[in-house]
Amino acid sequence: MKRNITGKKNGVGNGNLFKQNSFRILAVIIIMCLMLGVVWNASSCKDSNEEFNDEISQQDNASGYSVDNKDMLRLVITADDCKSGDLILVNKDNPYEDTPENLVSVLEHSNKTYTVSDYNVKLNSRVCEALNSWLGEFYREYGETDLLVASGYRSVDTQESIYEDDVSKRGQEVTDKWIAVPGTSEHHTGLAVDMSIYNTDNKISEEFDGEGIYKNLLETCDEYGFIVRYPEDKTEITGIDYEPWHFRYVGKGHASYILENNLCLEEYIELLKNHTYQNPLTFEYDSTSYGVFWFNEDEIPYTAFIPDGYQYNISSDNCGGVIVTYFKKN
Ligand SMILES: [Zn+2]
Repeated sequence: MKRNITGKKNGVGNGNLFKQNSFRILAVIIIMCLMLGVVWNASSCKDSNEEFNDEISQQDNASGYSVDNKDMLRLVITADDCKSGDLILVNKDNPYEDTPENLVSVLEHSNKTYTVSDYNVKLNSRVCEALNSWLGEFYREYGETDLLVASGYRSVDTQESIYEDDVSKRGQEVTDKWIAVPGTSEHHTGLAVDMSIYNTDNKISEEFDGEGIYKNLLETCDEYGFIVRYPEDKTEITGIDYEPWHFRYVGKGHASYILENNLCLEEYIELLKNHTYQNPLTFEYDSTSYGVFWFNEDEIPYTAFIPDGYQYNISSDNCGGVIVTYFKKN
């Protein structure tokens, strides 16, 4: 009996305990549900904030960039941004199919510290400005005005007649060593210039061999954004024999990096292909910090981030890629 009563008591007691526990469990579940509800609400707020931010970003995309945070600038690069630029590579494998921009007559814009063969010698206005600074400095140093700017922009038709004329005089094999096949000449871009020496008889110009005082021009060209495009030790890569008279504008920082690292333009573009915006090529030149990266043009529109406070420019490489250069004076 005792055991039964006890049992009964126990039974009653257990029943109450069960009910109490159930309430506690229910309460815990309700509290947990409430908490989960708060968390869910918070996360949906976050989602809607993200949507809002995306909307803002999309609006900013239209203007080209938006500041995402204090340290990085977001760039959204479209096809219009990548049409040409200072780093286009033009060679026998990569013909130039664009239209050169901002061509100006070198003679009309000359600072009179050098000679120009005629009014028809044209260059990109940015290149002409750099040429004035470069040759102006040479004049201040040596007092010579016998430098002749012999050739700048050439149309495909002009290159065609130069090429054909040379083939008839020297034969195909020799011509192909020196003269680019029409369509594949850097002179189509307005970014390349040929130097010569003004002859005293005022009839023909002498070949510019880059020797004597003129060696200075080969040594200082990078300070003004130019490179010797066909160096003596790179003929295997460029496919063109040494041309000390042919200078190509690529922009200041790039020119100095190319010169210091003994590269030709083909090698520099290959090098840049290893650098993304997360892993840019960085260097310093003339108290300016540079960052350079490359991406495949198939990825356009392309989003990238660069450090805030830098200026930037964008260039096609003319062989399937796009190069972004950012820079800041220190
Ligand atoms: Zn040339």
